[in-house]
Amino acid sequence: MSNILIKDGLLVESSRSWHADLLIEGESISRIDSIIPDSELPADTEVINAEHLCVLPGLIDAHTHYHLVSRGTVTADSFVQGSKAAAFGGVTTVIDFADHDKNRPLAESARERIGAMQNQMAIDFSLHQGVYGVPATLEKELASVKALGISAIKIFTTYKNVGYLIESEKLERLFKACKALNLLVTAHCEDDEYLESVAHSRSWTYSAVDHADLRPAEAEYRAIRKLGSLALKVGIPLYIVHISSALGMQAVRQLRAEGATIIAETTPHYLLLDRRRLEGDSGALYVMTPPLRTRKDSIALQDALVAREIQVVATDHCSFTAEQKLSSQDCRTIYPGIPGTEEMLPLIFTFAVASGRMSLSQMVRLLSTGPARAFGLYPRKGSLQVGTDADIVLFDPEVVWTIDSHTIHSASGYSPYEGSRVMGKAEMTFLRGRLVMGDGVYLGRPGDGRFVTMNSSNAYGV
Ligand SMILES: [Zn+2]
Repeated sequence: MSNILIKDGLLVESSRSWHADLLIEGESISRIDSIIPDSELPADTEVINAEHLCVLPGLIDAHTHYHLVSRGTVTADSFVQGSKAAAFGGVTTVIDFADHDKNRPLAESARERIGAMQNQMAIDFSLHQGVYGVPATLEKELASVKALGISAIKIFTTYKNVGYLIESEKLERLFKACKALNLLVTAHCEDDEYLESVAHSRSWTYSAVDHADLRPAEAEYRAIRKLGSLALKVGIPLYIVHISSALGMQAVRQLRAEGATIIAETTPHYLLLDRRRLEGDSGALYVMTPPLRTRKDSIALQDALVAREIQVVATDHCSFTAEQKLSSQDCRTIYPGIPGTEEMLPLIFTFAVASGRMSLSQMVRLLSTGPARAFGLYPRKGSLQVGTDADIVLFDPEVVWTIDSHTIHSASGYSPYEGSRVMGKAEMTFLRGRLVMGDGVYLGRPGDGRFVTMNSSNAYGV
């Protein structure tokens, strides 16, 4: 491993930014000082001039589905391809998901997913463990998952039809088990019963636009209220994934006022895209769950983000090719999900920082430090501190460019943000001291990505 001096960049952490030199030795940050003279550098140190560049801790996309086998197909981005898209977007760690196969213990699914990712990922990763039911051996199984280094589970309040929904009466046992083991519960919130009543309320044509009306924001509101109240009763924090609506945020505010600890995540697509995208022939390209909402909802989420009511921005990257997406015009069978890991940084920088609405530090908190803290990866990830992993992004805030599906790297072959003029681009991405992307060239190596264990003792302090 070589030594690298990043000279005279603007270092940005979640609470401050300052000009300094940063020295990497091997896989870690070894020194940060206003000036590190040449005479004090170890032999063979490569010097990178970072004047005019921002030096950010590597981003953490806390919600990805790479190589997701679902509905008889597999998503476009494999672990190999997903890693590449991530590196171009300044993302050095993703938190993906292990499914719950009800025919075997939870830890077996987790172990299998870790093994597959270790062989193919070129950036670091952690996992959330999906829990889609409450087996008799629940407590023991969760303890085994935790022993692997996974301290977050993912539950659904919908998708009863595919066996993901946990019956309400079993949730309390699950929440109590998570409390005992200090596991963070993360939840996809749409109230299934309410969705059923909407589905039966009238006849539908099941177009892409209908998808949005079939899954209204009210369902999100109800599910967040219900789960949040139970979390408050049991005395655990609750992490809500991909909040999509003003009503969803309202539920979060109400629960916080009642004393609940709610960690809120949203995505670039709910912040920046709205349901008008679902109209027309290409509407299927924009189908995901929960669906895109109104422009008003996007603005409400933007305001909540700026007001620090949201702690994490992640992408829910779940990519299908345009061909896969457009193979159906029926929203019941259109593959749900869109790509987004690579676009996250320039999109958030452009709408939030370049516009003057938030500081670089606040952006780093949302894209790196917030998820690191929520999932017990901090300070190893999500910080620029001596002794931590040298996951670093050199970010040029002044480049203006246009998102073009031909030049970004998701295997989906399209970008939901096609044609967007954005500011700012990751120029170099380092994973534990090794350059994985520089000046548009990908240098990641499948198998270099490591599984990062979550330390639940420092979790939740977002
Ligand atoms: Zn997801």
